[in-house]
Amino acid sequence: VTKTDIYSKKQKLLDFYHRIRSQAPQPEPEPSLPAEYLHREFKARELNLPVPDEEQIREILAQSGKFSPEDELNCGACGYGSCREKAVAVFRGHAEPQMCIPYMRKRAESMSNLVLNAMPNGVIIADEELVIVEINPAAIKMFGGKQSKFIGEKLNAIMEPTEFQRVLKEKRMLKTDAGYLKNNLITRQIIFPLENLVVGIFIDVTKEFTQQNELVQVKTQTIERAEEVIKKQMTVAQEIAGILGETTAETKTLLNQLIKLMQN
Ligand code: SF4
Repeated sequence: VTKTDIYSKKQKLLDFYHRIRSQAPQPEPEPSLPAEYLHREFKARELNLPVPDEEQIREILAQSGKFSPEDELNCGACGYGSCREKAVAVFRGHAEPQMCIPYMRKRAESMSNLVLNAMPNGVIIADEELVIVEINPAAIKMFGGKQSKFIGEKLNAIMEPTEFQRVLKEKRMLKTDAGYLKNNLITRQIIFPLENLVVGIFIDVTKEFTQQNELVQVKTQTIERAEEVIKKQMTVAQEIAGILGETTAETKTLLNQLIKLMQN
């Protein structure tokens, strides 16, 4: 193939293209829009958001437990860049003061401490080595002593740790209706695993058990007494029946003798 051939072929193709194009229907020219449609007006819609002063920011920060710059963790967990940014958002009504993760966590922890301290039942939390890591006032009262005496102490110093060991091993909850503690207290116990810890709840049922035992004793004594009375009654009844039998036999003999006498 020579160079001339390529050019003549290209020319032929172009001629063909122009011929076809000239025969094809030409598109309608686009209508031009009137000038009034070709512009738009914009109004300034600037947001004049209120800006809190320093005192207002401090007040808002205090609502989530931030009283000094050290309390401002600026962790960004609330979605704002800093605690102060969030305080501004609160001021503008875009956020709630309590929307602070560290604050909520601290609050939840202090709430659980409140509950633990107010609980009427004893609570003991031990670690994997069965060392006491937490004990509430009710449990301290049950075992007698001060909190400092128990924290860090081995569980077996105050009670039989078998159930706690079982819970650690089997990782499941155990319930005991009557567990005897070293100080003669009788407790209903609920022991369950919590991550790497074991939690024991002790409900003092000593009074309930004593009353139950007394009731059982009263019942037993009543039954014994009733059996004794029945036995005595039976003896008396048998004696009366014996006497009645004898007198009846005597009466019968006498009457027979009287009948015979009358017949004769
Ligand atoms: S979550 Fe709380 S501590 Fe963290 S930046 Fe927000 S307000 Fe500050």
